[in-house]
Amino acid sequence: MPIRATKRGGERGPLSGSHDVLICGASFAGLAVARELSGSGADVLVVDRYEIGERQTSACGIPTEWLRATGLMAAERQRFDSLLIHTPHGSRRYALPWSFSTFDYRELCALLWEQCDARFETAKVNGRAAPADGDGSIAVETDRGVLCAPLVVDALGWRRVLASGDGYQPPDAPLSRGLEVHPHGSAADLEIWIDRRYVPAGYGWSFPARDELRIGVGSFDPRFHVRETTELLAEDLSRDRVRYQGNWIPHELRAATEGGVFFAGDSAGHCLPLTAEGIRTAIYFGVALGRELRAVHEGRQDRERAAANYASFHDSHEWKFRWMLRAQRLVPRIPPRLLGPMIRLMGAKRFVGWSFEHYLRIAPPPRSADHENGSHHQQGDADHPPGAERDLVEAEQA
Ligand SMILES: Cc1cc2nc3c(=O)[nH]c(=O)nc-3n(C[C@H](O)[C@H](O)[C@H](O)COP(=O)(O)OP(=O)(O)OC[C@H]3O[C@@H](n4cnc5c(N)ncnc54)[C@H](O)[C@@H]3O)c2cc1C
Repeated sequence: MPIRATKRGGERGPLSGSHDVLICGASFAGLAVARELSGSGADVLVVDRYEIGERQTSACGIPTEWLRATGLMAAERQRFDSLLIHTPHGSRRYALPWSFSTFDYRELCALLWEQCDARFETAKVNGRAAPADGDGSIAVETDRGVLCAPLVVDALGWRRVLASGDGYQPPDAPLSRGLEVHPHGSAADLEIWIDRRYVPAGYGWSFPARDELRIGVGSFDPRFHVRETTELLAEDLSRDRVRYQGNWIPHELRAATEGGVFFAGDSAGHCLPLTAEGIRTAIYFGVALGRELRAVHEGRQDRERAAANYASFHDSHEWKFRWMLRAQRLVPRIPPRLLGPMIRLMGAKRFVGWSFEHYLRIAPPPRSADHENGSHHQQGDADHPPGAERDLVEAEQA
């Protein structure tokens, strides 16, 4: 069981007041925005229903270079130079042109938070509240009271709590589902299974993290329940089925701004289709957003300009996400008997190098120098922008 650090009931007094920036959600996207605002002098409040780092939201796999360039290497648990792909017709090891790392969620969040100078409160965000006045301030209702700010960020994940509520719900919305178990133990390889025994459209994984494994199954089809096959994969690997972690995973972009609110990470659909990699993109877009908000606070632009810039940055990535979605739709249509030979063909060194480099460039790592200079909030460019639930467990039981 995760350690519960969040204060309950009487320990949580009422909250109210106005801030320069209100960031809802203290995971990858929210903390990345807060970090970009550090040193700006802005009064930034970050809220989350849990304490920072308390509730792991993923298998925590990321390109190593992203950890390095953002000064987060201390959270690394294990590094992989190759990826082992299994199909029912054989296995193939891909030598990766760049390494991939797993990290400790709690530690990574703590490191990000160390680089922020914001305030934090635990509070559950319920939605927009009626604004108290007409000064452009946005009011947000939480279980501890109403909070206001002219600049509000929704980094709350796929539910996009601060949007208008357009009935975006699984299983009809473009969401994948992912569930994993976290048994103690160790292993050497980063492994993927493309095997209809586990999931008709999607993949299974085992991400070792030094003294723990993250073994799970992701389905692109939200109607396919992954609990049974996650347990089957763990059983096939002779690992314990313990410490479940799962959620819905968006696989389509959504508007970057709405009603004056800014969205980053899963709330904006920033998770990549096909691979369901959403950590580096949450940080990438979070940093880009943080820069825009910083410019507003420093009087260099107004909120509308920031919204237009951020939306245009977000939109400029749309075609890359569309290509990934096409691939996501194609893979399940490949006849199983062709999968093995295709995986072997695609294992050619030049092809792996080419495809992985392109894949990394969808959200390239920031230049390390940005962080080493201690200036993770410097201006970037289009290619190097950022300096840098339990829900599914319940759904599976339903
Ligand atoms: C099983 C699984 C494994 C995955 N593995 C990987 C992986 O290895 N690598 C990778 O790159 N991606 C992975 N992903 C995808 C990745 O987890 C997400 O894309 C990423 O976490 C998005 O970051 P975020 O900050 O937008 O949202 P989240 O990390 O989901 O954080 C949202 C935050 O908002 C808080 N919150 C939510 N609702 C409320 C509310 N109403 N009030 C207050 N607080 C609230 C939550 O407590 C949380 O802290 C995985 C996803 C799943 C489901």
